[in-house]
Amino acid sequence: MNEGFPTDGVDRGRCIHPWCVTEHGVTVHPNDEDHRSAGVALTVRARRAEAHGSGEATELELGALRRAGESETWIVIETGIGASLALTRDGARLLQRRLHDEIGPGGTLARDGDER
Ligand SMILES: [Zn+2]
Repeated sequence: MNEGFPTDGVDRGRCIHPWCVTEHGVTVHPNDEDHRSAGVALTVRARRAEAHGSGEATELELGALRRAGESETWIVIETGIGASLALTRDGARLLQRRLHDEIGPGGTLARDGDER
């Protein structure tokens, strides 16, 4: 164990969060002790909301993050276009449901209306 870093959530050298891939106790910087899941990556075409044009292929990475010393886990969406978002797990589930309802089959935003 690295005695200088907070190790909350670590019991006898093992992290209590089953999703965490941080190698606690062998990190170099205190921020490296944050609990992080493996990232799930997907490549999508995207742009920043204020931009114009066709966007660009970019990689989104989804994962869980609990900062050392904090008591809440965040679901983080990182992008390759300079935007990121951290949602509570409840917020992420709400977003998931709303996306399904709105852009899934039969959703109000499922089609543009100008398709042939
Ligand atoms: Zn951990």
